Amino acid sequence: MKDITTKHEIETLVKLQEAETQIVRLNAVLIKVEKEKEKLSAKLMQFENALQENKENFSRAKAGCRDIEIEIQVVDDRIIKSNEKLRMVKTNKEYNLFLREVDDNKKRKDVLETELLEYLDEKEEIGKTVQESENEFHLLKDKIEAEQKDIEKKSKDDRELLDEYLARQNEIGKTLESSLMNRFAKVSKMNNGSAVVAVENEVCMGCFMNIPPQLYIEVQRGNSLISCPQCSRILYHTNI
Ligand SMILES: [Zn+2]
Repeated sequence: MKDITTKHEIETLVKLQEAETQIVRLNAVLIKVEKEKEKLSAKLMQFENALQENKENFSRAKAGCRDIEIEIQVVDDRIIKSNEKLRMVKTNKEYNLFLREVDDNKKRKDVLETELLEYLDEKEEIGKTVQESENEFHLLKDKIEAEQKDIEKKSKDDRELLDEYLARQNEIGKTLESSLMNRFAKVSKMNNGSAVVAVENEVCMGCFMNIPPQLYIEVQRGNSLISCPQCSRILYHTNI
């Protein structure tokens, strides 16, 4: 009776391992998918930050132009006032004074107007860059969102499959003693999801080390659960 129990346990463990292998594989695939999606999001975010920076530069350039325009307005007012004063002068000294005032302010206005032209050019350039990067951003956003949706769609099957295998493993696990399930889980964790392996020609197919002949005979008999002395995986012989 014990022999039959062990043989049945080995068969169950092999099935458990089949599910485990798929679970490990699917988890790895889904992690990769998640990383791919994150990478795309990061790319979009990077582009969005660059666009934001361009927009801020544009606002600064716009404010710079406005400041110069305001200053030109102030200088213009001064010129008007000086001209008014010029019309009412009584002495030569006053005349020369206000004339110089007008002259100085006109020079200042020339400087400001040259400066304004440069600023306007710069503003225009930045404006173009903003427009271009905004267009590119929207194209990229559409593209990335489509790619992410595509990835999501493709991984849907894998996610469903993973759920199936998890449910199957859970069902199979119910038929095993909890101590054996713990042993399986422990060995699986140690060996990246590979807890039950075949032995072929005295070689463990998990770690590819030779196992002692006496142990090999015991594995072939299948009367007890034998662990590989090197990797601790539970061993079975394909003839069982
Ligand atoms: Zn081994």
